[in-house]
Amino acid sequence: MARVTVDALRKEYDTGSVVAVNDLSLEIEDGEFVTVVGPSGCGKTTTLRMLAGLEEPTGGRIEIGGEDVTDVHAKNRDVAMVFQNYALYPHKTVFENMAFGLRMSTELTEAEREAQVVETAEMMDIADLLEDKPDELSGGQKQRVALGRAIVREPDLFLFDEPLSNLDAKLRTTMRAEIQRLQNELEITAVYVTHDQHEAMTMGDRIVILDGGELQQQGKPTDVYERPVNGFVGGFIGSPSMNFVDVAVEPNGDRLQLIGPDGEFAYDLSAAYVDRHADDLESSRYTLGVRPENVTVADDGAANAIATTIDVVEPVGSDNFLHLGLSDEFIARVDSDVRLEPGDRVTIAFDESDVHLFDAETGRNVL
Ligand code: ADP
Ligand code: MG
Repeated sequence: MARVTVDALRKEYDTGSVVAVNDLSLEIEDGEFVTVVGPSGCGKTTTLRMLAGLEEPTGGRIEIGGEDVTDVHAKNRDVAMVFQNYALYPHKTVFENMAFGLRMSTELTEAEREAQVVETAEMMDIADLLEDKPDELSGGQKQRVALGRAIVREPDLFLFDEPLSNLDAKLRTTMRAEIQRLQNELEITAVYVTHDQHEAMTMGDRIVILDGGELQQQGKPTDVYERPVNGFVGGFIGSPSMNFVDVAVEPNGDRLQLIGPDGEFAYDLSAAYVDRHADDLESSRYTLGVRPENVTVADDGAANAIATTIDVVEPVGSDNFLHLGLSDEFIARVDSDVRLEPGDRVTIAFDESDVHLFDAETGRNVL
């Protein structure tokens, strides 16, 4: 296993007209499982391919296990990659697919190699498939084989490029747990790419969020969830997405008042809270962000209560999503015991510790 350093990594395509990865710097600890997430086209695959040595960086450096591998050929890097489309050799059996990487990379005897493949196949629960060809396997089985083929080589670094995207939802959950089990058992160092924020949040020791080829934020999933550095991260992490409302910010005694569009509501932030959080509030336009799960149905007299109406009630099992007539789109996630119907007037509230305030120009979270 190995520590990985990515320093100011850059990739331009088409002689610079596309900047796929823009000066990305990351440190990945030995044994750490890092998830990289962002929308389609944000540079996830390009980053992985540069780590694997399949794509030549335009600038920057990559170190794996203390060695500068920036100019080292893919086959001389001790890295295994697992792809969305499995990338198995169709004419080889499962055994041959798994043994193939070993044959190239190690100096084992035939018997040792076979023992290693069988042991890994047992761990992956595919031992009874060793003589099958890929087209005889289900999607889930193929992905197990692809994982087994990566694991059997015991590489320094595992790279996963959306490996579960082609599986149905149930199988995806199973495989997610499986990969986490392997990660715990084998203490692998891994970079796991996905566009699915839920997957990134649940699997990663650390989550790295990209947009437009640029690092937006990295940190422990709970930290990123609780304190997104900007509106992009706030909106991308969490489901349903964070509510955003344009607000004006005005002093109100020693407090700060957030005033909704057309004076729809006024929300007071306490002086103590403002002192603790606001570094600079010099901009004139802000966006208030609050997560649906932090919005409650409250009494009329509650502090900072906001009166509104219910447009749609969307039941999702244990919870209901209330679509409210506040701003363009505003959702409260409440317990399904709360009996409410479209057209009902309600009062909602949220705690000031759950309020995010984004500078409308820079997107930066100022609270
Ligand atoms: P992701 O995996 O996050 O969806 P990619 O790394 O595949 O994103 O792509 C990042 C950007 O680089 C996109 O704008 C994509 O169109 C562009 N890109 C990727 N590969 C190439 C290529 N071989 N030639 C030109 N542009 C590319
Ligand atoms: Mg991709």
